[in-house]
Amino acid sequence: AHEAYAAARPRSAAIHERARAVMPGGNTRSVLFYTPFPTAMVRGEGCRLWDADGREYLDLLGEYTAGLFGHSETRIIEAVKQALDRGINLASVGEAEQDLARLIIGRFPSIELVRFTNSGTEANLLALAAARGFTGRTKVMVMRGGYHGGVLTFATEQSAVNLPIPLAFTDYNDPAAATRDILAEGSLLAAVLVEPMLGSGGCIPASREFLQALRDATRQTGAVLIFDEVMTSRHGPGGLQQRMDVIPDMTTLGKYMAGGMSFGAFGGRADIMAVFDGHKPGTLPHAGTFNNNVWSMAAGCVAMGEIFDAATAEALYARGEALRDALNAACTAAGVGMQFTGRGSMLTVHFRPGPITAPYAATPAENALRELFFFDLLAQGIYLARRGMAALSLPVGEADCARYVAAVEEFVAARKPLLA
Ligand code: PMP
Repeated sequence: AHEAYAAARPRSAAIHERARAVMPGGNTRSVLFYTPFPTAMVRGEGCRLWDADGREYLDLLGEYTAGLFGHSETRIIEAVKQALDRGINLASVGEAEQDLARLIIGRFPSIELVRFTNSGTEANLLALAAARGFTGRTKVMVMRGGYHGGVLTFATEQSAVNLPIPLAFTDYNDPAAATRDILAEGSLLAAVLVEPMLGSGGCIPASREFLQALRDATRQTGAVLIFDEVMTSRHGPGGLQQRMDVIPDMTTLGKYMAGGMSFGAFGGRADIMAVFDGHKPGTLPHAGTFNNNVWSMAAGCVAMGEIFDAATAEALYARGEALRDALNAACTAAGVGMQFTGRGSMLTVHFRPGPITAPYAATPAENALRELFFFDLLAQGIYLARRGMAALSLPVGEADCARYVAAVEEFVAARKPLLA
């Protein structure tokens, strides 16, 4: 698969070779790295992409959920242009900032007050800082295999090197263990940080029982419960928390919410967020030159105020559910131990049968199939995350979904002897 891939992409190969001289691994986003070299995209329109060698793709990656509006939504582009016409960042507060804050507060049940950052990574760091400041405690609990950005990447006891604060761990979707572990930490624990569906960790939904166990145990010990909805906030008008009917103390946001411009936000209970209130003594600092940059704020107002309304969020969720059902029906019909997990418009392929409720160590055979899947789909003109995740954007239509199902059927037919 690698040879055909490389032969079809001489320009991408050359770009990668040049990049390696100035950046370790040839890029600055680990998720975009794969061997032999990543495809270099040079143009996008709607849900189409073109690479440096002139090949066209259906974009089902949707910039890892940040590309919800596609690559050419004119209302977003207009909003950004108009904002820049009034001057590149003015070192000042602006009204778009509070307009966007109001839109977000109106949507998410857990958010009474909100602040902006440049990324989801920062949003999580600042939410943890808020929880630590509010509780006067230091330790933070995360899920093994959770993903919270560049500093808590597929969290394990070993990978905490990027985040120099004391961490505790528990297992995803194990209510009894989580309850026990939270209660054992007791008054040491400042916060529990959890994705209501593991996103990068495999599109593995949390059970309501698990989220409720976290809610109950944190209420008992006084730890702040933080939902990382950087990816999952798209799953309903009020995010996945509203759909699951479990409301955390704080929520972190990011990705698509500024129309694809860089973005992050964290918010929650007013008494917790008050740790940043400059009107009060002893507040925590939260600076950041680009926190309220004019293009993200302007694009965010249009994205959340005009385009991604409640009906659009529900329609996207339904489209994703229908696609995943069709894909799983195709796998079942073919009798292969392959499945697509997720919720709504986010889905990941797995090469094992049976329920998947927690991150797992993939076997070499599974890893080989995942790699084949990525390169086979790419050869069919479909762009996914290397790990096999898709995140639908609004321009992805019925015909595009049908094309993905047909491409998966072709993969299954071609690779059937390898599929258990
Ligand atoms: N949290 C989750 C759940 C994410 O998926 C990501 C990004 N993939 C982040 C946080 C980090 O966001 P960013 O890449 O904007 O820093």
